[in-house]
Amino acid sequence: MKRLHILRASPSLMRKARKGVFGFRWIGDSKLQNKSTGINMPSRPNVLSPSDIRIDDRYILFYDGSVIVKGAKYVWELGDLDPTALVEGALILVADAEEGLIAVDLQRDLSTDLTASLVSVRTLLRTEPELVLRTAGRANQLVEWYQQHQYCGKCGEKTTPRSTERALECVPCNRHYFPRINPCVIVLVKRNEEVLLAKSARFNSDFYSCLAGFIEVGETPEETVEREVYEEVGLLVKSVRYVFSQSWPFPSQLMLGFIAEYKSGELALQADEIAEAAWYKLDQLPNIPSAAVSVAGRLIEYVNQNK
Ligand SMILES: [Zn+2]
Repeated sequence: MKRLHILRASPSLMRKARKGVFGFRWIGDSKLQNKSTGINMPSRPNVLSPSDIRIDDRYILFYDGSVIVKGAKYVWELGDLDPTALVEGALILVADAEEGLIAVDLQRDLSTDLTASLVSVRTLLRTEPELVLRTAGRANQLVEWYQQHQYCGKCGEKTTPRSTERALECVPCNRHYFPRINPCVIVLVKRNEEVLLAKSARFNSDFYSCLAGFIEVGETPEETVEREVYEEVGLLVKSVRYVFSQSWPFPSQLMLGFIAEYKSGELALQADEIAEAAWYKLDQLPNIPSAAVSVAGRLIEYVNQNK
């Protein structure tokens, strides 16, 4: 399919493009190849200009940190949208397989025009968690990266997108600003047939969950587990073991899931972090997060299945 200057594309041209009659074919990894010449179409930059838009691209629309959603629909097609509003916004490439997925940071709220509403990514996650994390969750993190690195943190100069990689560059400083990922640990502490579950003092949540915290500079994740458990509930742990991980876009965390064994100590809660914490028998668990959505839920499920 040929790359189109979409705003000037006539309906007949768009129909041809859909049928793929331009003599191009997909060769994987987002690349197009001219069938007769064998010349590859160039990959697209990570921050797109309007002329980079392709007919089959899909859009996730952000306005002021929220996603525009209509019923179950949060991925839009070009035909749904006012092209002028689209190109006023920042167009950030999220994925570029057979169809491109583009995050649009809109300058104005299109939710009324689309008879849709503004919804947080966290709310959207309740529908199809895995898919939402890979699409809207990822898009949300890229929009935040783009918004927050418009100027160089060292010299204050305006940054520009790098063409070869997902980074914003300050040319005078030769500094590159990549999307930031914040590594965290989340740990389920076991004691025989019981697990330690806690309620956060900071989030108004009904769930009893695992302990968690950000990895500090110079720490290994295992050291973070030991430190966080001691700080938050006053216990020492042993046999700290990594199990699995998850990207978590609130705001941009990589959650590393661990299991640890209780070693010693009495529960002593850090009041500003933990509202409640207690040992629960695996067959008498309180209200816990879903394993479909969170690493905490998966850790609890894992321990339950491997007891
Ligand atoms: Zn600079």
